[in-house]
Amino acid sequence: MGGDRLTVRDLRVTFDGFTAVDGVDLDIHPGDLRFLIGPNGAGKTTLVDAVTGLVKATGSVRFGDQDLLGRPVHKIARMGIGRTFQTATVFEELTVLQNLDIACGAGRGPWTMLRRRKHVPEPVANALETTGLAHLHDRPAGTLAHGQKQWLEIGMLLVQDVRLLLLDEPVAGMSHDEREATGALLQRISTDRTVVVIEHDMDFMRSFARSVSVLHAGKVLSEGTVAEVQADTKVQEVYLGRTAEPEPAMPEPAAAMPVAVTEEA
Ligand code: ADP
Ligand code: MG
Repeated sequence: MGGDRLTVRDLRVTFDGFTAVDGVDLDIHPGDLRFLIGPNGAGKTTLVDAVTGLVKATGSVRFGDQDLLGRPVHKIARMGIGRTFQTATVFEELTVLQNLDIACGAGRGPWTMLRRRKHVPEPVANALETTGLAHLHDRPAGTLAHGQKQWLEIGMLLVQDVRLLLLDEPVAGMSHDEREATGALLQRISTDRTVVVIEHDMDFMRSFARSVSVLHAGKVLSEGTVAEVQADTKVQEVYLGRTAEPEPAMPEPAAAMPVAVTEEA
């Protein structure tokens, strides 16, 4: 079941002569929790759109030994690739359980879907537990908190046994506690799946990323561990909006400042 590596080579997406993704290479393996960061407009969402078949691209995208590029969206989804969008897309008037049922039944005939069942299918039960939504299974999804809706959406990918999850800013608008819970959820689901998270929040990235790719103007600017990427002056200049300074640009010298003040006094 392991071995489903995402391999992206020289990926390019052009909109009317504007190159949004400009020759991206990525290697992401199961068990990784790859954060894709970068300023607004860097091409993060477009990259995920290209991998999932929503926009036309050139280059190559492979998942395991399967080629994705040029295939229709539903075929790519059937290969075990799922994504979430910046706004949650659950069925608001249906319950949590019904939402998971529908996602689970996507591969079955309409007859099975319509029949009343007494038992919760195992993948649905597992997803309820993994996402921490079991106690809310009877609640209409529309009444869930913002964070819980995102977890439900992740649950809907889990019941489909998605092997590659691409999550577009899953913690945007979440409270601190929801972020922490989401980070823990992402770490759990990524142990045996390939997970890519687009994220803006640097604190969240620092706490939960296993590896990071920084995108800027459609290109991979930097890649590595959180520490490596943070130490990269290119990242400090571009992503953090700082210009090169002789002093360390990362906010570290908090402890040193009072000393300087004392000396002057
Ligand atoms: P990010 O997700 O990193 O904020 P996007 O991938 O959404 O960035 O956008 C990358 C660039 O591509 C932006 O300049 C954006 O305006 C442009 N872009 C995205 N989608 C389209 C589209 N459908 N048509 C034209 N330009 C687009
Ligand atoms: Mg985006």
